[in-house]
Amino acid sequence: MKKDAVLYMVIPCYNEEQVLPITSKLFIEEIKDLIQKGKISNQSRILFVNDGSKDRTWEIIEELSKENEYIIGICQSRNRGHQNAVLAGLMEAKDIADITISIDCDGQDDIKAMESMVDAYYEGSEVVYGVRSKRQTDTFFKRFTAESFYKLLNKMGAEVVYNHADYRLISSRVLKEFANFHEVNLFLRGMIPLVGFKSSSVYYERHERMAGESHYPLSKMLSLAFDGITSLSIKPIRIITGLGLFVSMLSFIGAIWAVITALLGNSISGWASTVCIVCFMGGIQLICLGILGEYIGKIYMEVKARPRYIISERTWDKDKDNENQ
Ligand code: UDP
Ligand code: MG
Repeated sequence: MKKDAVLYMVIPCYNEEQVLPITSKLFIEEIKDLIQKGKISNQSRILFVNDGSKDRTWEIIEELSKENEYIIGICQSRNRGHQNAVLAGLMEAKDIADITISIDCDGQDDIKAMESMVDAYYEGSEVVYGVRSKRQTDTFFKRFTAESFYKLLNKMGAEVVYNHADYRLISSRVLKEFANFHEVNLFLRGMIPLVGFKSSSVYYERHERMAGESHYPLSKMLSLAFDGITSLSIKPIRIITGLGLFVSMLSFIGAIWAVITALLGNSISGWASTVCIVCFMGGIQLICLGILGEYIGKIYMEVKARPRYIISERTWDKDKDNENQ
């Protein structure tokens, strides 16, 4: 295979004015290094996706794109979340680039691992997952919650690569197939494996954020886990059915026991046990209703099929580019 693929680095940014001036230099260094080594084409670009930031992020991206030919940027019309920002970038790049690498802009993921990813692409992989080899820089709490997150997802039937977040290489061939996945509820790391094609993994160490703060507190992580499960699997609904069967069997046994004690003349007033059972059943029913509601909510959102991202601005003139072609 000729080694002159056009690479687009897709980098979502939300309120990252502190970190962008630092990491943009590292991205430029990497892209120049790869071009110099003859691994990617000179047409490769660093594509920043501003996810409706409230600080100076977009201004910084605009300035960077003026200073450096390798940097371009798109701006979302409002904040839509990390997954939608990555999708916007990938869809923007799919017709121009041969390969894309999505990576966070905070420098936590080892930018140097891109070279191994590109090598794996030339060896035949269409998707290359960046997998964290260690989690030493994370706090115990983050490590524990993140690991439980992957285990739970896999148990629930969402196929995800262990310890892989959204740092991955995707070829334009896979992206073109992926564009046919029209769902609104996005969970990219569970959806990409569904496209198939040959894939491999590259291992790297995750560092601390270079500046600024994480936008993924526990509440957002929980909702991502819940979204991941309910978008990719119907196992929770099956569990509800199983639970329903189990509880009804238990109450059947309970009923027999009640008849026997009544016949033996040992029956007690039974107020406490009745209240306990009523509360327990009420709780279970509410949880089950909640889970069912979650799926119905998802169906509702999918049926509306609203756009998954809206690009309001670009650092270049796309219409002019099209006219020139
Ligand atoms: N991000 C985004 N939109 C959001 C939240 C986050 O585009 O609504 C971006 C953010 O700028 C960063 C990446 O997603 O590049 C990961 O976010 P963060 O580093 O805060 O998460 P963590 O690494 O702590 O899980
Ligand atoms: Mg981060």
